[in-house]
Amino acid sequence: MFFFSRFELDRWIRMYRDSSGVSDELRGWNWSSDLLSPIIDNLYLSVSEVANRYCETYRDIYLKRVLKKPAPVSFKTVRGWVYHRISSDTLTLVKSYLYNSGFVPGYKLYNDLARRGRRFINRVMRSLNVSKYVSDEEFKKLYNDSKTLYKYLILQAASYNDQVLSREAVASIDSLVNKVVPSVVERVIDGSPLGLSKQLRIDMFLDNNIVIDIKTGDYRDFHKYTLAGYALAVEADLNKPVDYGIITYLHIQGDFVKVRNDFYLIDDTLRREFIELRDHAMDIIHLSRDPGRPTRCPSYCIYYNVCNPLG
Ligand code: SF4
Repeated sequence: MFFFSRFELDRWIRMYRDSSGVSDELRGWNWSSDLLSPIIDNLYLSVSEVANRYCETYRDIYLKRVLKKPAPVSFKTVRGWVYHRISSDTLTLVKSYLYNSGFVPGYKLYNDLARRGRRFINRVMRSLNVSKYVSDEEFKKLYNDSKTLYKYLILQAASYNDQVLSREAVASIDSLVNKVVPSVVERVIDGSPLGLSKQLRIDMFLDNNIVIDIKTGDYRDFHKYTLAGYALAVEADLNKPVDYGIITYLHIQGDFVKVRNDFYLIDDTLRREFIELRDHAMDIIHLSRDPGRPTRCPSYCIYYNVCNPLG
């Protein structure tokens, strides 16, 4: 599972099981109902645009969608790209390694993949064009962070591999891979029936219909709305109920990977609040009127220097 154990996941689900019970009217498959259908046709927002409510007045939406001012690319933005790509590509690499190598002990998996680390990380940095956006010093920091994260992930894979092989008779490589890497990385979902992007990318989607979103910045209360957006979209697209989600906060401090997992029940309240945020964002675009700034702009808002040129 890489960022949490099966044991933790089972404990969370047990804790929340009795409080689950999402109303059918708030399941994404009812996207054509008055409650869920978007207020404007042919307008598709990303889940993060809706959920990341840094700006109380939704001026970020006005700037991006009406004035067509893309959000500036900051070091934090690039860091998010790098950590996400290292995480998803490493899981894919582990899968393909296991399919090619068959049953191998964990230490061999780790050693073989560690040898490929430098090439792997160079490829990620090149494909994201990291050097274009950051200073030399920032590049070095991201490179070192990537090495730490990569080693952490392949070590987790090696450990799960040995745990599975030591406890049970595994009939096929397929079933080993499903146990060592049980998530679908970057699942693409069509959120358009709900006025969301046609190609939403969910960071991870577990086989028991749990959505996971990885965050690389600080904790924010509104991050939970991302999970509601993805749950509704999965239900609309795949007709599968999604009751739970996890926000995984990923930080790297020196040689250590720090992980915080916040588990959520995606209940009626969270769903209703997400739909309200979506409708409000659509209203801002429809009216095309500058909503103005809130009393105080958070310094971490990506548009801070755009809206506050004098600081
Ligand atoms: S800087 Fe202020 S007004 Fe501009 S988008 Fe951010 S929070 Fe909104």
